[in-house]
Amino acid sequence: MQPMSERAQDLKLRNDFALLIDGELIGSSQSLEIINPATEKIFATCPAAGRDHLEKAVEAAKLAFGDWSHTSFEERADYIKQYSVVLREHQNELGELLTREQGKPINQSIAEFERGTVQADNMTGIKIPVEVLLEDANQRIELHYRPLGVVGIITPWNAPVALALSSLSSALYTGNTTILKPSPYTPLTTLKMGELAQSIFPSGVVNILAAGNDLGQWMTEHKDIDKISFTGSVTTGKKVMSSSADTLKRVTLELGGNDPAIVLDDVDPKAIAKQIFFACFVNSGQVCMAIKRIYAHESIYEKLCDALVEEACNAKIGDGLDPDTKLGPLQNKMQFDKVSNLLKDTKKSGAKFISGGKIPNTPGYFIPPTLVTDIDDNSRLVTEEQFGPIVPILKYSDTEDALRRANNTQYGLSGSVWTSNTERGKALAERMEVGTAWVNQHRTTSAYVPFGGAKQSGLGRQYSVLGLKGYMEPQVVSVSKI
Ligand code: NAD
Repeated sequence: MQPMSERAQDLKLRNDFALLIDGELIGSSQSLEIINPATEKIFATCPAAGRDHLEKAVEAAKLAFGDWSHTSFEERADYIKQYSVVLREHQNELGELLTREQGKPINQSIAEFERGTVQADNMTGIKIPVEVLLEDANQRIELHYRPLGVVGIITPWNAPVALALSSLSSALYTGNTTILKPSPYTPLTTLKMGELAQSIFPSGVVNILAAGNDLGQWMTEHKDIDKISFTGSVTTGKKVMSSSADTLKRVTLELGGNDPAIVLDDVDPKAIAKQIFFACFVNSGQVCMAIKRIYAHESIYEKLCDALVEEACNAKIGDGLDPDTKLGPLQNKMQFDKVSNLLKDTKKSGAKFISGGKIPNTPGYFIPPTLVTDIDDNSRLVTEEQFGPIVPILKYSDTEDALRRANNTQYGLSGSVWTSNTERGKALAERMEVGTAWVNQHRTTSAYVPFGGAKQSGLGRQYSVLGLKGYMEPQVVSVSKI
């Protein structure tokens, strides 16, 4: 095992972009053009990996697995923490790049590095000890957890840094080697993370390949990739699961959501409006666990609508590089068109728009924060994952009815209950059919707490002992005396 390098301390990032394979930064004859969603202009190109690059990366990761899997948890924790240090050292520079390719406000891009590295560091404090299942005079049965091998990590475009870091640190800490593929819409910051990884990790332990969707498919089919950690849409998640079946790959699927928030009759709407607005519209609604449906009791409905409209009016929309911007553009044309169509459909259905609803005729994929009332439960905006800044507020009079409507979906990522009576809130939250049910909060995660979806929102969990064990194979070691 080569020693950890100190080169990363003063590392100057390159002016161009490169793939990371077997410890080398390399180019390709093919490339991806990257658009700034605030201007709709191509502002950078980066190499796109082909099948040969994938083969080299898999070979390198397989070879590196031998030594890496025999290091201790403590040694691997040291590597990950050192990686976090260099990422934080470069977070302002890389945060700006993230805003250019993803669109989110610059302070949120930098915060993504902070959040991602803190989660990664905290994960390395989690112990996965050998468990003694049975011990008597004649025998001892232990449960061990072994690393799986090569883990393929596939990430989406909404939070490329935080989502890469959670899977990467989980896979590496548990003794696996990795191949990370970012979304073709947002590969640049991830490739820069590769430059920094090159200076920290032994060759072959971390490989980073950018390319189109085909690369994701090749990874899921590859016989020498042992697990796929996938974050993305339900539709693609199903394809990943299906094409992983041939090699019986392990999969963790972190998929889409249609999170409900149930606001009870005992809250002060003004006191919670800021939090609810943020949970709906941060990153312009492009968050898997954003609030995507609000169920408000009739007694506080009007006041809650007014308070949310006030928040919408105060949220400045613009280029994420402007420090005053609160909401950036949608990340790409495909998503902008999808949300624009949803908006048109919702208008046609006769629902009432109490904020936003008009798409500005300026460059950039901008849609203002849009709140919709008087909408049918069966409308697309209620039943589908909008993944954009348009949110329905639905009225209810009976809490049981609100819960039934909130649960009436194929999605089950997360949900929340808002109330001044936490006992009452907890009792209702426990009955939500979701992976995470919050009371008086939404969208909080921690390295120590499992996160993932019920129903079609996913399979397996990230974070915590539960999540980490998903990157390992349980092995029983049973010893009898003779
Ligand atoms: P997507 O499914 O279109 O793409 C995700 C990734 O999969 C990309 O890297 C893409 O190139 C790759 N891919 C595409 N086709 C593939 C295939 N056939 N095989 C393997 N990989 C393939 O998702 P998106 O539009 O990038 O992201 C938005 C979605 O991600 C939303 O539904 C959102 O809710 C979800 N998401 C979930 C979580 C979570 O933790 N549950 C977090 C963030 C985003």
